[in-house]
Amino acid sequence: ITDLCLILGDQLNAKHSWFQQVQSQRLFVFMELAQEANYVTHHQQKILAFFAAMRSFAMALHQADHQVLYLSLDAAVNSGNLTANLDQLITQLGITTVHLQQPDEYRLDQQLQQWATVQPSVSVTWCDTEHFICARDVLQQWFGDKPSYLMEAFYRRLRKQTGYLVDEHQQPFGGQWNYDKSNRNKLPAKHKVPAPLLFANDTSELADMLQRMGIKTMGSAQPDKLLWPVNRQQSLQLLDYFLEYLLPNFGLYQDAMTESSWAVYHARLSFSLNTKMLSPKLVIERAIDYWQQHQERISLAQIEGFVRQILGWREFVRAIYWQFMPNYKALNYFKHHRPLPDYFWTGDTKMRCLQHSLSQSLDYAYAHHIQRLMVIGNFSLLTELDPDAVDQWYLGVYIDAIEWVELPNTRGMSQFADGGIVASKPYVASGNYVNKMSSYCSNCHYQVKLKSGEKSCPLNSLYWHFIEQKQELFANNPRMSLVIKQWQQRSPSERNDILATAQRYLEQLNSL
Ligand code: FAD
Repeated sequence: ITDLCLILGDQLNAKHSWFQQVQSQRLFVFMELAQEANYVTHHQQKILAFFAAMRSFAMALHQADHQVLYLSLDAAVNSGNLTANLDQLITQLGITTVHLQQPDEYRLDQQLQQWATVQPSVSVTWCDTEHFICARDVLQQWFGDKPSYLMEAFYRRLRKQTGYLVDEHQQPFGGQWNYDKSNRNKLPAKHKVPAPLLFANDTSELADMLQRMGIKTMGSAQPDKLLWPVNRQQSLQLLDYFLEYLLPNFGLYQDAMTESSWAVYHARLSFSLNTKMLSPKLVIERAIDYWQQHQERISLAQIEGFVRQILGWREFVRAIYWQFMPNYKALNYFKHHRPLPDYFWTGDTKMRCLQHSLSQSLDYAYAHHIQRLMVIGNFSLLTELDPDAVDQWYLGVYIDAIEWVELPNTRGMSQFADGGIVASKPYVASGNYVNKMSSYCSNCHYQVKLKSGEKSCPLNSLYWHFIEQKQELFANNPRMSLVIKQWQQRSPSERNDILATAQRYLEQLNSL
């Protein structure tokens, strides 16, 4: 053995060209690292799922006759640090070449690049992960340097380039690029959502190891029945299940929230995608094929909505990350500095929307997009929480949270802390929106119809408080002008009541 090929926890791409041929001089190395388990407090299910998926991929390579070295977290020779481990292995095994796949996270990219520049005795080669559709610097290549970028322009160009859902003249199927407008329905009363497909992977040994090694985690887990897919086969099963049972209503109820289902019609494929057990191309192409064969029960709006999430949003936020890092991580446009209330770790709040969204995040390491954006994110922005703390929480709690995708979504789209690089206006809403899209408000301690006073829905007064506070910043934003005008047209006494209520709620943030 002369060559060491490093495989990071989110580089589980079985279709990578590294694995197409067995090469006797190559050793594939996996490491369970304390540095990765501890850079933020992760949800227990997240660490279990990552380590289980790594172990499963390592085993699959071994069974395919590749040479594999797997350092478990508790291995005596595992220092817990990525580059210290590399140094040790190089010396021990007499390695002459180290092969690396470009990390998706800035932090790891820096660590490996700095390490590579000071290697006296080994040569280091870099290659692509062969996962994403676009290059890291695609925004630069296509649009040049700009203060902000439009997802829609990026998405249309990518539709044309890939040929997905476009005709021979590169025009969109159905004549429209985007069917988002027909995708904003509340679930009808008594509508039954299909139960999610759950796995029952036994990760109890891993859970014992985490405990023994003193890894701090958040949230709950059933380690003997981990519900997330931990290999390519399970990931493909989840994809098939999605296509058959969920895609027909995916777009239609994409923004809907209900207490009776924690995933509604969402795919729950983000963990499989972000660990690269599945590629975006495979998921998109299988979905388009399935739609083509089942057009009698799946409309164009459903498949377009799904393709846009993966081809559009997922590729776009990655490109934003690489365009604006490392500065992006420190942006705090509104200078918000409040700490997170305790219920982010317990779910113990009287606000039903928040209680349900937080509790399911802690129970399943998952919330769907609208819960992340319009419940937890909206609440965080309206209550002026510190974007650093908000980021840490999102980065820890979700099964799919890796910084390249978490950061632009949280700091950018949901907190507007980037000042509008990702979103053209802040995603803020009063209780009215939550009531329109969910079943939460009818079971809440607070009353969504009340704008001020005791028992009024906190989102109502906090929403107008936000508008009052930020009206000057958004005076020239056409997407905000109507609401600012509505606020200014209210009587002074009504505005005073609303602002006093908001102030009281902000002072009692921990006991809402
Ligand atoms: P579905 O709704 O079924 O969508 C299908 C796929 O589309 C997802 O698996 C995902 O790969 C992709 N997708 C959809 N929306 C986005 C988006 N905005 N950005 C990137 N990909 C998208 N996604 C993560 O993967 N990791 C994160 O850490 C993360 N943090 C988020 C934080 C906030 C505040 C918000 C608003 C969104 C975040 N998202 C994140 C995006 C999105 O919410 C999740 O990708 C989605 O909920 C995953 O569940 P799903 O697979 O059921 O998605």
